[in-house]
Amino acid sequence: MGVFSERLIAGLEERRREGLLRSRPTLDSAQGPMVRIGGREYLNFCSNDYLGLANHPRVVERLRAAAVEFGVGSGASHLVCGHSAPHRALEERLAEFTGREAALLFSSGYMANTGVLTTLLQGGDHVFEDRLNHASLLDGGLYSGARFARFPHNDTAALREKLARVDGAKLVVVDGVFSMDGDSAPLADLARLCAEQDAWLMVDDAHGFGVRGPGGAGSLLSEDLGESEVPVLMATLGKALGTGGAFVAGSALLVESLVQRSRNYIYTTAMPPAVAAATLESLALLEEESWRRDHLANLVARFRAGAQALELPLLQAEGPIQPLLVGEADSAVQLAENLLDAGLLIGAIRPPTVPRGTSRLRITLSAAHEESQVDRLLDTVARCWRDR
Ligand code: PMP
Repeated sequence: MGVFSERLIAGLEERRREGLLRSRPTLDSAQGPMVRIGGREYLNFCSNDYLGLANHPRVVERLRAAAVEFGVGSGASHLVCGHSAPHRALEERLAEFTGREAALLFSSGYMANTGVLTTLLQGGDHVFEDRLNHASLLDGGLYSGARFARFPHNDTAALREKLARVDGAKLVVVDGVFSMDGDSAPLADLARLCAEQDAWLMVDDAHGFGVRGPGGAGSLLSEDLGESEVPVLMATLGKALGTGGAFVAGSALLVESLVQRSRNYIYTTAMPPAVAAATLESLALLEEESWRRDHLANLVARFRAGAQALELPLLQAEGPIQPLLVGEADSAVQLAENLLDAGLLIGAIRPPTVPRGTSRLRITLSAAHEESQVDRLLDTVARCWRDR
């Protein structure tokens, strides 16, 4: 059969035995509180479209208009002839919005994180990552050739010990809001520690950008941390902003170095210009429709209060990611299937995405939800939880 086929079959078999096989629901509708799969409507509580912008009429219209003007494909990488006026305008707007000297677009968050880390770091350097960091940060640290160390989740005392033990170039990397736990990093403490230990701090704010901070400008500005405290900011555009891609923001020196040296930036086709234009519309909506953040915060408070009254084991999280801890992978899958039967779409998150024994339902709320939908979520989850 050949060594590769045998290896692939064994790999899938192992995943199946451990209850870790994944499947991909195919949506026949746009993102929104209700989605259609296989001819049935489901109430959707697993999207990262936190502000309900992914299908906002103005964002859709801006994309359409830009596609008419700029076409669909960008045609080439940014350094050849794929960089167009909407890319440039979006980079300038993102730099201004995050209060940084410059910003650079990447086609995805995975590319941005691995791109920055492999450009900044070199052999002999030290990189320290929270053990619950997103896979793209962990992979970037590992690919970089630097000495790689993880520290226990949000444990600044443990990090201090590790930092104090080494000399040379040191980079600390964390998620601003942790993607599978929904809690946030102690950014002010980390910034102080990095200053004291002469280390740089990089924050991936994929889940805070658009939701937290003044005007939705993100986790750093919610704690008044600027470029001097956190030299490297990365955030994605496919979550609260409702479009796609990502950016890195920092000094002009950092951004120019990425343009010149990041292989993830240089050797890939630029994001479609219409996506950049649509993202500019999302940024305008962040400002004009601030009620979205207020409504989302109300829904989160309503959900947490309800879940507490029902004694559901929620993790401690204050934002739109509200994980319900289940434990074993097969129990989490069974619960998600029962919820699906009841008309609710919620993802079961299992190893290797989360540590063994901590499989969970990753419930996410959106400003597009109504209070009555959150009430239905609470009723249905409580019933399926009791009957599990
Ligand atoms: N960082 C974090 C914290 C994320 O949650 C994600 C996406 N799940 C990424 C990076 C990757 O972003 P993208 O989906 O744009 O590749």
